[in-house]
Amino acid sequence: MLGYFPVPYGDELLYSIVGRHALHTGLGSNQKAVIREVFSSSTAAAIPDLPSHLDALVHNLQLVWPINVEDLIASFTLASIYLPFLSQDQAAKVIRSMRSDIGGSIHTRSGIAASTIKQSAFFRYCPECIKEQVSECGEAYWRRSHQLPGLAFCKGHSCILENSPIYFRTREKHHFVATASSRVDSTAKYLELSDLDLSLHDSYIELLQSRHLSGLGAHRWTLFYRNLANDLGLMHKSRVQHKEIYQLVKHKWDGSTFECHFQEPVEKHWLVNLFRKHRKSFHPLMHLLVLSALIPKYAVSKLLDDVSQLPATVPKSVTSMQNVKATESEIEVHRQGWRDLLKQNPDVGIKGLRGLPSGGALYVWLYRNDKQWLMCNKPQFQPVIRARYETDYQHWDESNVAILISAHIALASQPNRPRLTQTQFIKALPRANSVEKHLGDLPDTRRWLTSHAESVEDHQLYRLCEAFEKIKANNTEVKRWRLLRIANIRQELITPKIETEILKLELRRD
Ligand SMILES: [Zn+2]
Repeated sequence: MLGYFPVPYGDELLYSIVGRHALHTGLGSNQKAVIREVFSSSTAAAIPDLPSHLDALVHNLQLVWPINVEDLIASFTLASIYLPFLSQDQAAKVIRSMRSDIGGSIHTRSGIAASTIKQSAFFRYCPECIKEQVSECGEAYWRRSHQLPGLAFCKGHSCILENSPIYFRTREKHHFVATASSRVDSTAKYLELSDLDLSLHDSYIELLQSRHLSGLGAHRWTLFYRNLANDLGLMHKSRVQHKEIYQLVKHKWDGSTFECHFQEPVEKHWLVNLFRKHRKSFHPLMHLLVLSALIPKYAVSKLLDDVSQLPATVPKSVTSMQNVKATESEIEVHRQGWRDLLKQNPDVGIKGLRGLPSGGALYVWLYRNDKQWLMCNKPQFQPVIRARYETDYQHWDESNVAILISAHIALASQPNRPRLTQTQFIKALPRANSVEKHLGDLPDTRRWLTSHAESVEDHQLYRLCEAFEKIKANNTEVKRWRLLRIANIRQELITPKIETEILKLELRRD
């Protein structure tokens, strides 16, 4: 039983608290003694993100810090960023391993080690945060939010997180190194963060603080992404438009600190598998990169809530009821279930009903066994499409503009290009037909198109410049008639602006 244990600071890792304990009690150099005292074990390894031996620790802490294991895991480790994306079974195993005295292969068993997004090799810190910690608390400590894999900046100080000399997965397995015992004195390197960088940061922190310690499982995540593609109009018939999604997301992250995650071509990119049937779990950052780009204002709490409402497995009726003729009483039971569902949810559309815990299974059963009746008993309510994602138009609008900007560069640089009309620009966008129909709801797209679409006169001016370059390349004299002929401008269409441009080109000497 411990008679002393340091009081944890906000956002501190359990590893850091143990490191400070060793320092405060003067046991720092004898790490075996530290783990024996703290974990009642001579083998407890110093694993910062998913530590083990926590039942023993909680037991030893009772006198000085009566905390339970779940709170310890949720508030002082990195478990909550991983668990919701694992299967129920995997998440439960991780928790069991963390509580037990055999932590060993937690990362491998949960699939965390296999991800292409890796944990930083060293503990990271923000030089400005360290200064603040020392002046406010009298000592420095390792923050949880600075160890999130793939997140490389401190939002509070807009600076890059620096690597300390301390290995995150230490080679001396039992060492708990306090921040104060290592060199953490780099000068802060400031950087400019985009709104999207900040939004992803906030979602990552929200996930870290979510306290959601159960696994939601592959089937739910598969359904979630399929519904998402459907709701955002990114499906053609029943096929997910992987290329469009990839382009949309990649465009969003261009020029940000997360750009490096979109270097792979679409055929090899993990994003495609995220929208297919999930066969393994995906790294939390992969989820956040896609969700922050496609539905930026969708809170993580709402996400976890929505996903947990989806069915965890394929409804039994699909797998085992096929080809077996339903009896009349079975049909009546299912019809009644459906009627009840309609009555309880008068303002939910068919898609919404299928998303309810019992709705999906009922729908599939009736569809297979009693389709005619089901078709006559569909909900009257017409849901507002995409109402689930409050930000769709705004987001759609923003991504259109991003795509238009790069499309403009490509189109404008073609030699002898045709006039850049509004229609031509719209054609460069994913879901061009929908964009045209919804221009009224997409103010930024509309404004961009109006200000960039070329008038006939604009295009004549462009042709004049091209003609000038050709004449120069041929070493002939720049003459009005020559310019007009090469630029193919008829005499009667010459406006005062064109006239001025011709005069200017005739006088140009370069
Ligand atoms: Zn900071």
